[in-house]
Amino acid sequence: MPDLTYISKGNSKTECFSFDLPAIDTCPGATAECSRDCYAANLMRIYKNVDAKYKRNQEVTYHPGFVDYMVDTIPVDCQFRIHVSGDFFHEDYVSKWIEIAARRPDVTFYAYTRSWRIPRIWLRVLALADLPNVNVNLSVDDETGAPNVIGADALRWCYLTKTDSVPAWIRHDDIVFRSNHIGHKKRRKNAKAKGLPMPELVKRLGGQVCPLEQGQDIPNFSCAKCRLCVDKPKVLAHA
Ligand code: SF4
Repeated sequence: MPDLTYISKGNSKTECFSFDLPAIDTCPGATAECSRDCYAANLMRIYKNVDAKYKRNQEVTYHPGFVDYMVDTIPVDCQFRIHVSGDFFHEDYVSKWIEIAARRPDVTFYAYTRSWRIPRIWLRVLALADLPNVNVNLSVDDETGAPNVIGADALRWCYLTKTDSVPAWIRHDDIVFRSNHIGHKKRRKNAKAKGLPMPELVKRLGGQVCPLEQGQDIPNFSCAKCRLCVDKPKVLAHA
């Protein structure tokens, strides 16, 4: 069992270990839209132990032993999500992840970030994304628009839709997350109970919709099995 003082074990959705920081406070590229609906910020508000752990995690990133601790503690051969909560808040912090990932080539690291909007941080994130065992996904929404920063074209973009519409700049292999899939699941459950036709959600909205957000339960499915966000993209073609 790994030391879970600072690392999180992951839930049934991800099945990946993670390192988490306080939501919003460590998200310099946050938009009004993602801050308003932030799942991690809500968890921190509800669960004081989660709030305490994420704040303690941020403190430990400043400790001179942080890199060695992570290198020694991350389980072998795992998939590791850098932040279920929080983001790359400073370029020096990103440099620490570059060292950690370089010293742990057995681990597949992945992250989502809106810090691509902060130029001095983005240059370090780009260097992190360049490592063979790291995949960085760029989080986007209507407020950010398409990432127009150097190197963004080679990375996957993850778009959050509330209306099931997707802008034309989302590419065929980008990923769409939808905020209405939970309500949709409830509608399916009600339809089943009443013997009504099953409501369907559109499966492809320009990019590919996360399989977990297509409105149906998929038994024994997780990010570790899906790997769309975990692995580096191959070719990103425009839709
Ligand atoms: S697309 Fe796949 S890897 Fe990404 S969040 Fe959805 S299930 Fe997880």
